[in-house]
Amino acid sequence: MSIFSGIKDILGQINKIDGSIYLQGRDFADVYAKNIALEEEIAARTKELEQANQTILTLNSVWDMMNSSQPLSSMLDKIVSILHNEMNYNFAAILKLETGVDEEKYLTIKSSSANSYIIKLLSYINETEETYKLPYVDNSIILKSITERKIYSTPDIKGVIKMFFPFLTQEQLQDTLSNVNSKIFSVVPIHNGQENFGCAIVTSDRENITDTEMNFLSLFANQIELAITVADLFQEVKKQAITDPLTGIFNRRYFEDNIVKEAERALRLKQPFSIIAMDLDFLKKINDTYGHQYGDIAIKTIANVLKKEARSIDIPARIGGEEFDLLLAGVDSQGAYIAAERIRKSIESQVLETIGGVTASIGVATFLEHSDRIDELIELADQAMYKAKLNGRNRVEVAQKQSENNWQQIAVETFLDILAKKRIPVSENISKELSEKLNNISLKEQSANDILYSIVDMISQSYNQMYKTGTTKSKILLAVLVAQKLEMDKQDIDKLRLAILLYDIGNIMIPEEIFNKKGPLTEDEKNIVHQHPVIAAREILKPISNIQDIIPIIESHHENWNGQGYPAKKSGIEIPIMSQIVLLVDSFYAMAQDRPYRHAYSIDEILKIIKDEAGKRWNEKLVDDFIYVVKHETI
Ligand code: GH3
Ligand code: MG
Repeated sequence: MSIFSGIKDILGQINKIDGSIYLQGRDFADVYAKNIALEEEIAARTKELEQANQTILTLNSVWDMMNSSQPLSSMLDKIVSILHNEMNYNFAAILKLETGVDEEKYLTIKSSSANSYIIKLLSYINETEETYKLPYVDNSIILKSITERKIYSTPDIKGVIKMFFPFLTQEQLQDTLSNVNSKIFSVVPIHNGQENFGCAIVTSDRENITDTEMNFLSLFANQIELAITVADLFQEVKKQAITDPLTGIFNRRYFEDNIVKEAERALRLKQPFSIIAMDLDFLKKINDTYGHQYGDIAIKTIANVLKKEARSIDIPARIGGEEFDLLLAGVDSQGAYIAAERIRKSIESQVLETIGGVTASIGVATFLEHSDRIDELIELADQAMYKAKLNGRNRVEVAQKQSENNWQQIAVETFLDILAKKRIPVSENISKELSEKLNNISLKEQSANDILYSIVDMISQSYNQMYKTGTTKSKILLAVLVAQKLEMDKQDIDKLRLAILLYDIGNIMIPEEIFNKKGPLTEDEKNIVHQHPVIAAREILKPISNIQDIIPIIESHHENWNGQGYPAKKSGIEIPIMSQIVLLVDSFYAMAQDRPYRHAYSIDEILKIIKDEAGKRWNEKLVDDFIYVVKHETI
């Protein structure tokens, strides 16, 4: 091979190598470029992944929050704060779509981020986030976003502010915008099932909104929608627990819980509050004449009047079938009377299909003025309502002011007087013990009643060894229940309590040998047992001025309905109703106790004897009520 051909060959090889170097160089540049592209892609994907992670974290925290059954308002606040603080939007708010009375639509601000320049804008026009109604403008991006259920964005922040606050002056607008560095405004629609709830609005300082961001925002909107549904359900469950299903006003439980809270508030602020107790008149007649569904209409009518007449802070409630109570916060008895009259007139003026109209009887009682105890206050309002029934229905009665000398006070003074003046023959020991007990009674305490009853038990035991401790308390309970069944007012019930405590006091004057005699009594002895105690009671009680109206009740408590009783042989309605109750209660407990000549009767036997003597010893109607109470109440 010649040198040339050798060189040629080498050149050829060099060319080849060159070519291959060139080719490899080109490949390398390619690979390099590809690598860069890949790295960029990896960076972009990593960023997306980070965003996705952030999204998941954010959505998780929204989810956790939803499971904590918080009220909707605090959930929305949390969502807005996440958008603002964690997702880096420089402003976020949630707006709710509302419809006014005239069907006009507007938006309200349910929550907005802490830095909100909305507050500044509102201050120009003397509004707050709670009160301001944002216009829901035709063809605006808000309306388009909500109705089309799509996310919309615009760089025209100024236009948006102008739309929401049309009353701002150019200067005010300029002043606000100088502090705003947002570049894009986005609307994210929120719906709740079929309903359009409203929207979330966000602004950011980025130039535009990316697809990833769009995805995130729509996922976020889904979470807000779930939050609203959960909160709505929660609200609904809460509402059902405190609502009366027939009328939609509050139920008894809610009323009772609130009266306790109101009493605490009233005591703290030294302010009164009143309750208005109401009962539909003649509902039974409406039911019987037109059917139950018309009775229900009558009940709903009352509830609707209460809803209409009550202020937002008042609490109207259905307490039972046809009974309603209204709690009037901060209102004294005069104000409550005026409110009650207004309600009464409003009920009377309702025109009802088929039934025509309804009326209600109303009682008013005021905390601190009539009583400082809740149970007593409710009882007083009820008593006043019963009084309204007795006085002809369709009227308002205010509770009786609790007399300074209530029945316990009178009882304490009476017994102290009797013991001090030695009007009854009890031993020195007993007298001392009883006087001590009486002097130490604190009338404010619940135990005051029990002490009084035990004093009467002890006096009774001093002449009748078979008298059982606790009988006086039972007698009072039974008498009061019967009186309540008869719808007696509180003052009369208090008189009855005193009569029960005192009616037997004359027995102490019966000679012991007659009282405890084992065989039947002679006519003379019977006479002593009949006449003597009544005369003695009068003698013992006559000098005590504040129980004079109790004496006639005691004097007639052995008279019989048919005129065959004693001492005056009164009959029928000549006998005071309270004397008749005392006689029935006394006979009931006499039969329930052992006597020297017989064993105690059972309750059934006693009720049979009482029933058999209805119309003779006692008034038939009273016997029916008495038997009803014994059978239905716990005595
Ligand atoms: P008064 O004027 O004395 O209150 O007479 P009244 O007929 O309204 O009162 P009464 O206590 O004698 O009868 C109440 C009736 O109310 C008896 C009961 O069946 C009826 N009632 C209770 N709850 C409802 C209810 O939810 N719907 C209907 N339709 N009637 C009810
Ligand atoms: Mg009624």
